[in-house]
Amino acid sequence: MSAAAQDELNVYQSAEARFEIAAKKLNLEDGLYRYLKYPSKEITVYIPIARDTGRLEVFVGYRVLHSTIRGPGKGGIRFAPDVSIDEVRALAAWMTWKCAVVNIPFGGAKGGVICDPTKLSKGEMERITRRYTAELSEWFGPERDVPAPDIGTNDQTMAWVMDTYAMHVRQATTAVVTGKPLDLGGSRGRKEATGRGLMICCDKAIEKLRMKREGTRVTIQGFGNVGSQAADLMHKTGYKIIGVADIHGGLYNEKGFDVPKLMDWVYGQRKPLPEFPQGGEKMSAQEVLFRPTDILVPAATENQITSQNAHRVECRILCEGANGPTTSHADAIVEKKGIFIIPDILGNAGGVTVSYFEWVQDRQGFFWRENEVNERLQDVMESSFDHVVHYAEAHGVNNRIAAYIVAIDRVARALQLRGIYA
Ligand code: NAD
Repeated sequence: MSAAAQDELNVYQSAEARFEIAAKKLNLEDGLYRYLKYPSKEITVYIPIARDTGRLEVFVGYRVLHSTIRGPGKGGIRFAPDVSIDEVRALAAWMTWKCAVVNIPFGGAKGGVICDPTKLSKGEMERITRRYTAELSEWFGPERDVPAPDIGTNDQTMAWVMDTYAMHVRQATTAVVTGKPLDLGGSRGRKEATGRGLMICCDKAIEKLRMKREGTRVTIQGFGNVGSQAADLMHKTGYKIIGVADIHGGLYNEKGFDVPKLMDWVYGQRKPLPEFPQGGEKMSAQEVLFRPTDILVPAATENQITSQNAHRVECRILCEGANGPTTSHADAIVEKKGIFIIPDILGNAGGVTVSYFEWVQDRQGFFWRENEVNERLQDVMESSFDHVVHYAEAHGVNNRIAAYIVAIDRVARALQLRGIYA
């Protein structure tokens, strides 16, 4: 791979490129620019674990706290073989901007451990999680830094984080993590929240483009927590899901998928997605992005739409479920095609919004009904969408840069009010 191609795939550089454009448009003062560009803290932890065989292995983990200007750090913990400090840094910065776009009182953080969860037993996962948490027990805290699940981690992982933290501080502290099981202070509606937030944004976008839900074709890459929930909710409300993909491959079916059956195939029967009977045409997980559709939802991983392939995208709305699915080098190509963009820091913010509700409920010790959670989520997503799109139209910038500007402006204002402690 050439150096330029490698640069394009460096998510930290992608995040920085958008930040720079937005900061320039905002005429951000030089000192503030430098303050907001860099993370506040980064840590590397070496995690010694006894494998089930008895052999000792050392895993490498990171936590980056990008900003606590507007509130405690907030961000997931990712367990994946390709985790890197640059990726965690980019994801931490995105969390700062995402929380600010939806105006919830959190900063941004992210963590990760370089490991392959598919090759670890449940016991090994638990030991990695507990040791990682123990190493970071002074960083984490409901008022300091509040983790959540991300790729490779789930509600069980969060229960272990909560328990380990509780043992260290010697009191049950449910608000130290979000995305927990319902029985342990989790929030109703959290599991569906990111998918629901994506759907709410799509509803707003089609209304704007004078389209109807019925018959609007949707392609979703990624069939994990985000992708499968988005597919299920959108299918139920009349959208037609014509393309799906997961790590094993993609399927395209112009007639539309029976999503409940597909959910049962993948999650009930635990069969590979591309083998789904009545599945339509099989293709690679990436190829599905380039088939004609109305709404394209990349909800798998980073760097899927690049300068090399963006010209092949054929959709009216690009609604980003994953973090960083489009590289900054591809932005101009997508924009030139006149595609309506719902950028990741807005589109997938439903997850962190309901995480915020979970944190509030844990601290209140009082839990809300699912429809209360969903209604509040709808309010937050709709007003954030309106704010970003209105800003974009009023200032002649695209939705992505508008979202960054709205976010940076909010963080910069909070920083100016707090001042610099020195
Ligand atoms: P997940 O692990 O539950 O699911 C990931 C899905 O993507 C799986 O179906 C997997 O098979 C598929 N996948 C992985 N690599 C792929 C590839 N190269 N091509 C096609 N499919 C591939 O993860 P998730 O929680 O659904 O997260 C997906 C994305 O959404 C990530 O970028 C994550 O950071 C982002 N996100 C998640 C949440 C959340 O609440 N879970 C919130 C905001 C953003």
